[in-house]
Amino acid sequence: MLNFFKRALFPERCLGCFAWDTLLCRVCARLLLAPGSLSAGDAAADAANTASAIAPLTSLSWFMSYELEPVRVLIQQLKFHGVQRLARKIIYPPWPPVGIDDFRAGAVLMPIPLHPMRLRERGFNQSVLIAQTLASQYRVPLLDSVLVRRKNTVPQSSLSHDARPGNVSGAFALRCPVPARVQRVIFVDDVWTSGSTIKEAARVVRSSSSCLVSGLVIAYAGDHGGDHLDTH
Ligand SMILES: [Zn+2]
Repeated sequence: MLNFFKRALFPERCLGCFAWDTLLCRVCARLLLAPGSLSAGDAAADAANTASAIAPLTSLSWFMSYELEPVRVLIQQLKFHGVQRLARKIIYPPWPPVGIDDFRAGAVLMPIPLHPMRLRERGFNQSVLIAQTLASQYRVPLLDSVLVRRKNTVPQSSLSHDARPGNVSGAFALRCPVPARVQRVIFVDDVWTSGSTIKEAARVVRSSSSCLVSGLVIAYAGDHGGDHLDTH
């Protein structure tokens, strides 16, 4: 009943085509998909650049490009409209995530934790909700109790790219060791901009574990395009 009134008062429109009664229609969800990946092992001419851009990750995969305007809106809306409802439209079989090899046995999904104060303010962690959606769609275990955020950092979006690594330095700690059975940790987040946050989380995990580390995000902004984004 409540939903009925909510929909009557605030009718939803598709972010892509403005069709009524949906946040993202199935057609637009498909059209907006532009999966891609970077791998440290690529034999491309710029392999060394790629490896250093994502290190210590061995691969980074994404579902969409942040360059597209509807994707920018979508990422903002993820924070307001029920992340999982929207995420399920993007993340569903038979669409395999790029870098599907990373999903073999021994892999776990690890969301980027929020500081407890930030979590209280926002009420939810979008990384956790996206990771939960991935875990259920692709049947990969979720490991969200190992990594903690001990520093309430300034939002990366308010800083220049050069200042971002320093801002997240020391932000994470391990609450307990990564289980020995874990062979690969796949970090999950909404957007990759400078990558500083995921890379710092990966460094902390790698400091006490020999497992491989990868990244999987909804949208990839590369070296630019995400400057105004309010992420963690
Ligand atoms: Zn649409």
